[in-house]
Amino acid sequence: MSLVIAIDGPSGSGKSSVSKAVARALGVGYLDTGAMYRALTWWCLEEGIDLTDRDAVAQAALVLPLEMGTDPADPRVSVAGKPVDAEIRTTELSSVVSTVATNLDVREEMRRLQRALMAEISERTGGVVTEGRDITTVVAPDADVRILLTASEEARLRRRSAELHGEASASSIDATRDQIVRRDQEDSTVSVFTEAADGVVLVDTSDLDFEQSVAAVLAVVSAAQERE
Ligand code: C5P
Repeated sequence: MSLVIAIDGPSGSGKSSVSKAVARALGVGYLDTGAMYRALTWWCLEEGIDLTDRDAVAQAALVLPLEMGTDPADPRVSVAGKPVDAEIRTTELSSVVSTVATNLDVREEMRRLQRALMAEISERTGGVVTEGRDITTVVAPDADVRILLTASEEARLRRRSAELHGEASASSIDATRDQIVRRDQEDSTVSVFTEAADGVVLVDTSDLDFEQSVAAVLAVVSAAQERE
């Protein structure tokens, strides 16, 4: 018996840190699908591929030499043997990743890869927590537990701004706004992650701290397991 958990949500919802903590608590593997789109974006830039050249980027997705770490305590990402964990999280990369992620041919290949990785991780560790934008709806609509993790725009901006700038002052919140709000708008053209689809449980973390958010997700998992 394996436990497949799908978690979607907008940026700043706490998705990544909560997903990793949930995977650790349950002793299962972890897959960060956003990191896959980021790694492909980094690779295209490295190879000098124009991100707006849809065919060239789709082709790059087919040959991407990607290694995804799946240990929630230390999920490293490498491309062609090079660790790219820092490179894929820069502001520059975050500002262009949606161009790659809205390429529908890229999404098809990424989804195929994600399903294969989920099956492999699940078999190896007894389950998987997979986070992204379209996991509950498209990649794994048959997951055992499906959660949409949200938070108010204000809470998301506050968190990301503290993460990026080490503070949540008015000016750093403004600097973060374009990144988050615009990126979510662009991403929303290809995935639905602002409303919970049928059968997806909504967890709003606006008024929850990190531990409370993890506990809320684990409670949804327990409830789903009791129903089995
Ligand atoms: O979650 P994260 O911010 O790392 O995701 C980076 C980008 O990857 C998102 O802005 C989105 O463009 C894309 N993404 C996606 N589908 C997913 C996960 C991420 O399109 N399942």
